[in-house]
Amino acid sequence: MPSQVQKVSASTDTVHAHTFPVDERMRVYAHVFEAIGQPLIVTDLTGSIVYWNGSAATVFGKRRDEMVGRSVMAVADGDEWRLKITHVLEEVGQRGQWNGELMVQRSDGVQASAVVNARLWHHERDQDAIVILVTGINRQKRSESYTGRRVIRRRRRNADLPRRFKRRLSGVRRANRWLRREIAEYRRNEQELRFQAKLLATVSQAVLATDTSGVITYWSPSAERMFGWSAAEMIGAIGFYLVAGLPDLELIGAMRAAIGAGKPWEGEFMLRRRDGTVFPAYAAISPIFDEQNRRIGAVGVVSDITERKRDQQALADANVRLQAANADLQLSHDLLHTIVDNLDDGLALIDSQRVIQVVNRQFARLLEMPPEHLPGASCDDVCPVVAPIVARTLSGGVKSFERVSHAHPSGEVITLDVYGIPLRDASGAQRVVLRLVDVTERLQLEAIMRQNERLAASGRLAAAVAHEINTPLQSIQNYLYLLRSSSIEQSTAFLDLASSEITRVSTLLHRLLDLHRPGDRSIELIDSNAIIERVVLLLGSALRGCSIRVEQELAPDLPRFLGQRDALMQVLLNLLLNAIDAMPCGGALRITTRRALETIDQSARWCVQIIVADNGPGIAFDLQERIFDPFFTTKPHGSGLGLAVSRQLVEQHGGSLRVQSTPGNGATFIVSLPVAEDA
Ligand code: ADP
Repeated sequence: MPSQVQKVSASTDTVHAHTFPVDERMRVYAHVFEAIGQPLIVTDLTGSIVYWNGSAATVFGKRRDEMVGRSVMAVADGDEWRLKITHVLEEVGQRGQWNGELMVQRSDGVQASAVVNARLWHHERDQDAIVILVTGINRQKRSESYTGRRVIRRRRRNADLPRRFKRRLSGVRRANRWLRREIAEYRRNEQELRFQAKLLATVSQAVLATDTSGVITYWSPSAERMFGWSAAEMIGAIGFYLVAGLPDLELIGAMRAAIGAGKPWEGEFMLRRRDGTVFPAYAAISPIFDEQNRRIGAVGVVSDITERKRDQQALADANVRLQAANADLQLSHDLLHTIVDNLDDGLALIDSQRVIQVVNRQFARLLEMPPEHLPGASCDDVCPVVAPIVARTLSGGVKSFERVSHAHPSGEVITLDVYGIPLRDASGAQRVVLRLVDVTERLQLEAIMRQNERLAASGRLAAAVAHEINTPLQSIQNYLYLLRSSSIEQSTAFLDLASSEITRVSTLLHRLLDLHRPGDRSIELIDSNAIIERVVLLLGSALRGCSIRVEQELAPDLPRFLGQRDALMQVLLNLLLNAIDAMPCGGALRITTRRALETIDQSARWCVQIIVADNGPGIAFDLQERIFDPFFTTKPHGSGLGLAVSRQLVEQHGGSLRVQSTPGNGATFIVSLPVAEDA
């Protein structure tokens, strides 16, 4: 048997390798079959020779390549052989074996008798074969004229024939047993080869083999699929030039050099299919050696890496996008960090255990602490001033606010507005964002502004007072001048006029005193509804005189509060008198009281509200704040002090006085007076 298998399989998964190297064991079998020194012929059931060993070639003088594929009839000339071998094949077909002597024709033309052992070999299902082992070939006498000595010798030998036959037979049996074992081994190997062939047919990689000159000797089914060239087209061709896509001479040179040096090589190529399309491929190429370690070719495994390349490209693109996104993110992060760190407000994130997680620079600065000491510390320990609001925000889960004073170690005291903002993270854990606003400077500025305002107001007031007093004084001066040259009756009239001017000055001064004499009234529990009823009673005739209809909607459960009764009466009198002035020809006056929640100094407070609404002409928008200025009046004889004094009195109670009016649609004055929480 040669070192290359003629036909690996006859099934559908035929490997198209007509000369495919076999494995080591197969080589051993080949040696054994050769070494037995007896002709060994294997045929299929029709007698077609599938195997012909070296001894058969020597004995019968016919080469293996001549005989494989031919009928066993062709082993010897003549009808006798043909008849007998036909009989042998029939016997083996029916009984499984045939043993006996046959006359065969040797290579030197001599007819010789031979012991023939033929056996059916269940080589594989539907693949039975007949193994014919020829032993003991003897020279046969050519004619009847052989010498008597030969006849005697022959007779002697014939007498010895049973013994010799027995010996040979036992030899043949031994050989048969050995053959069976070898055949079993051969079958296993063949199955293995079939399996490998199947594997090669199944794998997606193309497998191909070349001889040393680059001629394709094997072309797997997957290579057919990958390149579109069939094995029949490729085997025998210099395949590389058919499949090289964009030949990279340097790469090809490197590959040739490696294979030439007997080393494996791997790398990436651009390869071409039969239809001309080019694709990227990865090839691993290894040299093949024969038993004498001579390089007889190379085997290559080629993978189509189009998908991999596409994936690599997609990955690279995604990477680029990711890097860009990362850079953006980093930029946003840095930006945010810079903004947060440079805010004027202090910011801190505090967890549910009141442990500080993150702070910005300003937070640490406001508390005069090194920023690195804050994260991880308990806010109760490091900033007790904010601890209550943190606790309140965590427990209530709502925004909270507190204004606190904080003494720095340096002794400086600052005022902080502390805002606690609840923050629930994705896991549901409650945290607090703490915002510290240093309002020290703002409060100082506000105080200065208020002072300035007061000074400005005093200036305006002084100017206004001077003007207000100057007018009646000039009148008095005029009347006194006229007195000198007037009759008694005229003098009386002038004195009356001067007296009324003096009364006007006195009233004015009283009002001024009201404005600047806040503390001389006694404090008592005030029932707003009772005061309203009293004032409405006092002004009853004036209201009726002007045909003003009064509607009262007074809340029965109105809380009482501590205040100055007279002051509040004066406020209501001013508001009602103004309403009467605003509706000289009649109208409706609605007085409402109610309990309401109002925001005073940024915190919600319960208040008693007294709402006085008329349906007079209302107040122009641009005058709505000015009407509270002292001496602002639109009335010919008004003092302009009623609302200024009223606002002052209400503010002394911690409340507010404001107006709402749509010009042409009446005016509504709202007095809000805070009440104690438990009122
Ligand atoms: P006086 O009543 O002496 O003018 P006030 O301070 O009481 O001083 O009022 C200032 C100005 O506010 C009034 O002159 C008037 O123009 C305006 N005003 C006050 N109340 C009303 C009202 N109910 N309707 C329209 N205007 C009003």
